[in-house]
Amino acid sequence: MKDATIALHHGFKSDPTTKAVAVPIYQNVAFEFDNAQHGADLFNLDVPGNIYTRIMNPTNDVLEQRIAALEGGIAGLAVAAGSAAIHYAIQTLTQAGDNIVSTPQLYGGTYTLFAHLLPSFGVDVRFARDDSPEAIAELIDDKTKLVYCESIGNPAGNIVDIEGLAEVAHARHVPLMVDNTVATPILCKPIQFGADIVVHSVTKYVGGHGNSLGGVIVDSGNFPWAEHPQKFASLNTPEPAYHGVVYTEKFGPAAFIARARTVPLRNTGAALAPMNAFLLLQGLETLALRMERHTDNAIQVAQFLKAHPLVAWVSYAGLADHPHHELARKYMGGKPSAILSFGLKGGYAAGVRFYDALQIFKRLVNIGDAKSLACHPASTTHRQMNEEEQAKAGVKPEMIRLSVGIEAIEDLLQDLDQALRQA
Ligand SMILES: *Cc1c(COP(=O)(O)O)cnc(C)c1O
Repeated sequence: MKDATIALHHGFKSDPTTKAVAVPIYQNVAFEFDNAQHGADLFNLDVPGNIYTRIMNPTNDVLEQRIAALEGGIAGLAVAAGSAAIHYAIQTLTQAGDNIVSTPQLYGGTYTLFAHLLPSFGVDVRFARDDSPEAIAELIDDKTKLVYCESIGNPAGNIVDIEGLAEVAHARHVPLMVDNTVATPILCKPIQFGADIVVHSVTKYVGGHGNSLGGVIVDSGNFPWAEHPQKFASLNTPEPAYHGVVYTEKFGPAAFIARARTVPLRNTGAALAPMNAFLLLQGLETLALRMERHTDNAIQVAQFLKAHPLVAWVSYAGLADHPHHELARKYMGGKPSAILSFGLKGGYAAGVRFYDALQIFKRLVNIGDAKSLACHPASTTHRQMNEEEQAKAGVKPEMIRLSVGIEAIEDLLQDLDQALRQA
């Protein structure tokens, strides 16, 4: 099936007892065992089935299967937020003394996790000087457990050379983990280019309506964990946190996602609420349609701003003169989502006047809503960083980030024009 069809049908036919066609909300904590043996088999992971919603839930399962299918992976794990997905995916592979290597252009919350929280638990994060494969390769050593990047950096808008990063990671027997939130699997499928693990904040475009947090981890099933038993000891030696299971023996290619579910999620509990899984599935049904409109509107907004006499610069890889335009063509068919940034002549002060004059664009810190949104990263999402760190992350003091929605383009351009004139 093609993406638009998968998004509507994959992983659910109709409810076997009621014949309901919409995915039912299993607002339910625990599931009954047939008998003691059935309970034991479920706990041993010998038979598939449901135990407790902190670890699995039938509504969440449909979301997991659909996102995994769209990404071309073998399995998914849904959790309460994109941030939890990122943390759990990293926790599945690392312990104190290990390191990970990351591109510098990151979502603000991910930067804070990497720069402060992970190191406080003994996991060192090495930020490369830029997002090139060479810069990443230099930092990989024997303790490196993964390479991390965002397919489209939020808010920097850089397009990462996924194939190049996968090559340098794999040369050192390290997996590549890609945050594909901004691109969505409709525009880019990192696994096709060598990514081993994909993480998502489905809070954004997938849900699409700004009403539910959620995160998903997708396992490609491609990384040969068992060939490196010492490096990936957590997947190749008996797991004390789950009665001695050896994940690569029990789950083969799905070892990674099985451990993500049964160790970080089971033990720390950022489970996705089934109601949110339902709302996210509702959004997912129209994702392919919405991304078409989002990207059509974004290129028109970018061209409008670029031609405007009050605008100093526009950064959107969909524009032919953007340094990453070729990468955007290779990885996203020339449609690098609908987040763009720009700066006004008159710097920060003019930027504030512009920001305050917006009428349709909402002033808030979110992206990927059907509605158009605007944000000033330096004072909000990236304010924990000093100016040097901000510059490295692709954030300038006067920068305004737009998440272009699916409204009528005429209304969006008019709103931008009146706000520019007031600035
Ligand atoms: C929003 C976002 C996250 C965090 O997701 P939450 O669902 O808000 O926890 C991670 N990565 C990117 C690229 C994001 O835009």
